[in-house]
Parts: sequence; structure tokens; C-alpha cells
Amino acid sequence: MPELPEVEQAARTLGEQIVGAHFDGTIRCSWLKTIESHDTDVLGAQLRDVQVTGWRRRAKWILITLDNQMTLAAHLRMTGRFVVCGRDEADIPQQRVAFGLRDGREVRFVDQRKFGRIRLLTPPELHQLEDAHGYEPFDDALTPAVFLHLTQSTQRIIKAVLLDQTVLAGIGNIYADEALWRAQIHPQTPANKVTPDQATALLDAIQTVLRQALTNGGSTLRDYRDSYGAKGTQQDNFMAYDRTNQPCGRCGTLIVKTVVAQRGTHFCPQCQS
Ligand SMILES: [Zn+2]
Repeated sequence: MPELPEVEQAARTLGEQIVGAHFDGTIRCSWLKTIESHDTDVLGAQLRDVQVTGWRRRAKWILITLDNQMTLAAHLRMTGRFVVCGRDEADIPQQRVAFGLRDGREVRFVDQRKFGRIRLLTPPELHQLEDAHGYEPFDDALTPAVFLHLTQSTQRIIKAVLLDQTVLAGIGNIYADEALWRAQIHPQTPANKVTPDQATALLDAIQTVLRQALTNGGSTLRDYRDSYGAKGTQQDNFMAYDRTNQPCGRCGTLIVKTVVAQRGTHFCPQCQS
């Protein structure tokens, strides 16, 4: 599932192609569940002659800002991705929705697993979406002291806390495993048993692995592509995730895979104990 770096990259590469363009209000939709909260006729009417003014990311949401005060919000879930191409180009396999642009192009949403969702948000709805998520990992307000407080205030295991979008926004299974490996913390450690030094190291590790992944265009294990169709390369730098039975890059012990917080979890049993 795309996490912060992949969603950021998908949003940026979509924004680069469509900021300044106008939707024309046409929508071709072959999987109705993709579009939440409006039917396609209503959505089309709300997008007609509306200009794209910007893009950003919040948690794992792509937010496309529009000049009518509304925001087109997309969640890629498992396999969603955007493609921008000419309207006359053939439909893409697993294409679910196509939004027409006035300049003759289309913004297409392709989604093999069909879990991806797109919503048009009013300002209050956008506010609600923002409030439903916790700190962004690069938020200046997320100081080591604040992060320590977040960990100290729960007995849940640390990996579950990292995955909880209401605590930290944008981290999923890959970067949780990578950050815990880097900080040398066992994924099943109760969060309130994480020491202040470990919490500082973990926050630093989260930011370091995410920054590295952003530089590398995210990770592509199977399906992920940015909005130009390019793969990420961060998977070449994994130290724990997807490295079962391969030697730990720090101590040589074989990385093990177990299930933690209902998720496949990779860690070094020697230096994350
Ligand atoms: Zn190790």
C-alpha cells in the first residue's frame, strides 16, 4: 500500500501535470464505488470549468485544490494510481474513472484492486479530514518531547502506534519496519516502555527513512507507479522490510518475519531486542 513517500510522489507528479488546467466536467466512470459522496453527474457539474490551483498531501490522501474552494481528495489504498493522457488515447486496463480536462487531456484513475477512493470535499469536509489524522512526520510541532509524550501515553505496542493514522499520519508497514530497525527497537515493545533516548532515535529514524524514500521516489514492490508511470527505487535500500532470512546490515543476524499488529513485520532479533 502506498505510504507517505509514494503518496507524496504520486501527488507531486500529478500536480506537475494538471495545476493550471481546467476540468471540463466530463467524467467517465466504470467502477462507481471509486467516487464517494457524489454521483458522477453531480460531481461533473461541480467540476465544470473549475481550475486546478495546487496540490498537496495529507496523511495518505492526495489533495487537489480547486478555484471553487473545493478539494478533490484521492486515496490510492492498495493499487490506485493516476495517469494523465490525451482523451483520444485508448482506455487503460483497470481504469476506473476518467476526468476530462478542457485542454483535451484526461486525468485517469487506474486501480487494479478497486479499493481506491475519490471525494470532492467542501472546506468543512476538508477540515474534518485534516482533523481525523495525527501529526505529519515532518511537522515542526512534532518535537522529540511531543513524540515522547505520544509514546508514553499508551501501552499499545510501538509498531501499532506507528501505524495508527490518528497518532502519526502517513506511515505504513514498510516505513514502520524500516524506522524500528534503524532505531534498534523491537516492534512489540510497549510504547510506554520506549525510553526517552529511544523515542528521540525513533523520531529521527522515521524522518530519515521517509526523507530517503522521498528522494528515491518511494518504493515499488509490485504495483506502485507515480503519476508519470515511474517506479520508485527505495526498495533497493530496505534494511528490514521484505528481507526475511537475509543478514541484518548491522550485525549479520538473519532478519525474521513475524506478525505484529496484524501485519507482517520484519526485524532483527539480535539488535532489536
Ligand atoms: Zn541486527
